[in-house]
Amino acid sequence: MQLHNLTIRAASEMLASKKISSVELTQATLQRAHEVDSKIQAYVTIADDVALEQAKQADERIAKGENITPLTGIPFSMKDAISTRGVRTTCSSKILENYVPQYNATVTDKLADAGAVLIGKTNMDEFGMGSSCENSGLFNTRNPWDLDRVPGGSSGGAAASMSAGLCNFAIGEDTGGSVRMPAGFCNVTGIKPTYGRVSRYGLIALASSFDSIGPMTRDAYDCATVLQYIAGHDPKDSTSYKIQVTNYHENINKPVKGMKLGIPKEYFVAGMEVGVESSIQEAIRTYEKLGMEVHEVSLPHTKYALPVYYLLLFAEASSNLARFDGTRFGLSVSKDAKDVVDIYLQTRHEGFGDEVKRRIMLGAYALSAGYYDAYYLKAQKVRTLLRQDFENAFNSVDVLLAPTCPTTAFKLGEKTSDPLEMYLSDIYVVATNPAGVPGLALPCGFSNNMPVGMQLIGKHLDEQTLFQVGHAYQQVTDWHKQNPGNR
Ligand code: GLN
Repeated sequence: MQLHNLTIRAASEMLASKKISSVELTQATLQRAHEVDSKIQAYVTIADDVALEQAKQADERIAKGENITPLTGIPFSMKDAISTRGVRTTCSSKILENYVPQYNATVTDKLADAGAVLIGKTNMDEFGMGSSCENSGLFNTRNPWDLDRVPGGSSGGAAASMSAGLCNFAIGEDTGGSVRMPAGFCNVTGIKPTYGRVSRYGLIALASSFDSIGPMTRDAYDCATVLQYIAGHDPKDSTSYKIQVTNYHENINKPVKGMKLGIPKEYFVAGMEVGVESSIQEAIRTYEKLGMEVHEVSLPHTKYALPVYYLLLFAEASSNLARFDGTRFGLSVSKDAKDVVDIYLQTRHEGFGDEVKRRIMLGAYALSAGYYDAYYLKAQKVRTLLRQDFENAFNSVDVLLAPTCPTTAFKLGEKTSDPLEMYLSDIYVVATNPAGVPGLALPCGFSNNMPVGMQLIGKHLDEQTLFQVGHAYQQVTDWHKQNPGNR
């Protein structure tokens, strides 16, 4: 196997047996990133100096045999919404194009403590608003499987950095599918953990009651490894769970025979690409062969998930993005400004892209005095119903299986003129975020030569079962081993 397609597990074994040093692995990754990424454009920033310094320190740890974790010396990419001290963090917005944080996100600190090596920061839809990376205020990222197609979004750069072999794992963020949907488009494994399982401190907020940081990897085993090191309570994030982190590998090799797999009937509706549907049906049959009991279940409020998600997201985003006003950090446009209000207006006019402005306006409208009850409050009530749907389903099954998207990756430009079309591609991934439950995306086939993704949805804090069920599938299939170079 080539270096750039190694799993964390394989790379870590090579480091431990001294077949390669972290500096060598990092240099090879950086070189590839500089060569290949001119076509893909997954990275906003490639952090050569930071990477080489962290790799050197990792090699010292390995030489001393001290403080070694499975992530020590392993190159990774980070979505550009997560703060990295001294490394530009743009959220792919013009308003933060030159912003260099003075502090690390908790996740950044945790990965540094584990000895992982930051290669660079990945492109995304501006502030996480989008499903294709085309809303990036900086540039488009291309799908490594077909350069005319999108990588998905909003963590499109993260997913592309994985499938193009530009790192050994990626850190993404999922507010309404942004880890799972691009993972599906790029043939990557990725998890949106339970809301509150990973600290949000230092993540530039989109919708604070949905935002969940999660890893993208080459398989479910690696995904469990990374989550193990980034999960946990954080005094700096009062919404992070105060309970101990489960050992995510504990049950990973246990057979899934006798476990119950739920298929939500509302997720199989007209409009799904034929090859997506057949791949999902094939995955269900694989689980049957592994001895799982398959049951149809109902999540009756699914049809409200998309409007509820978007309404609440607009509201939270409009409030979160109020901080970008040209007086604190990032861009400040004060040319001929008469007063401070002029600075606010000019900065936000120049700094924000169209989608961001659209969402701020809609969110402010939904929160305004005359409309709050009709929109925001109503959506919050339906949000409770969405959560109850999942709770009821989990009374009878252990996990749910659904597609990550009705189609495979679409062409660049195909949906940019119609925001509603773009929102519709999130139909299968948005319900989990208002409900707070975890979802693990896995590659499950190809349709018209493009990857198809499925997701396993679990109970609150039951990531362990998702990894077990995901790993069982990957033991008997090899979709996850396909990459644009070997297929
Ligand atoms: N497609 C979703 C949106 O545009 C993605 C949000 C996210 O998960 N960051 O809101």
